[in-house]
Amino acid sequence: MDKVKTPLKFFHKSSSVEYRPSRVFCVGANYKKHVEEMGLPGRESPFYFMKPREALVQGDGSSVVGVDYPPQTKELDYEVELVVLIGKNGSMVPKEKASEFVSGLGVGIDFTRRDIQRKLRDKNQPWELSKAFEQSAPVGPFISPEEISSSIFPMELNISLSVNGIIKQQANTRDMIFSVSEIISDLSAFFMLLPGDLVFTGTPQGVGPVFPGDVLEAKIDELPCLSVAIQ
Ligand code: MN
Repeated sequence: MDKVKTPLKFFHKSSSVEYRPSRVFCVGANYKKHVEEMGLPGRESPFYFMKPREALVQGDGSSVVGVDYPPQTKELDYEVELVVLIGKNGSMVPKEKASEFVSGLGVGIDFTRRDIQRKLRDKNQPWELSKAFEQSAPVGPFISPEEISSSIFPMELNISLSVNGIIKQQANTRDMIFSVSEIISDLSAFFMLLPGDLVFTGTPQGVGPVFPGDVLEAKIDELPCLSVAIQ
């Protein structure tokens, strides 16, 4: 068991700036069909939870990243997400300026102890036990938004995840309830955004469980892909 694999700096394919992992912000329930499949109410503003740095593992875009199946769950769910790497300090960022704070885009998986999350939700308790465990946030390499053809905000990127070669999640980031710009603007009203902060922007429909031995492929258009083997 090699539980903590936090990278010392992020692997950014198109920036010479070295970003050290900082906070991991995650947006909950940000695609309509996923909100429906989870039986959640709609909302007027995004909601967030966080993962510690120790949740991070980074792939190199080609080799498979090993992720340990965590203890205390029988239902480890994948959630493929577009991940935004913040490049500079930002507070009270207007929506129109949000793209200036994005230094990198990457693919990530928000692993979730779904059985635990359900219990916590029923008891109105915080989500840490279901979301903030070690290796629960693997990410691929980051590239600059200018590197992709459809980099205009709001982004329209195809996002998908397969398990053992079978597609389980397939959607487009245009289906987000709150856009990347809206999320950055909203988040920056509550926190001082810092270089190295990550924002997981929510998962589309099709979440489900994985088991030791499964291999996941997470893809978003031209972004470097993320391959994960559950061990
Ligand atoms: Mn998520």
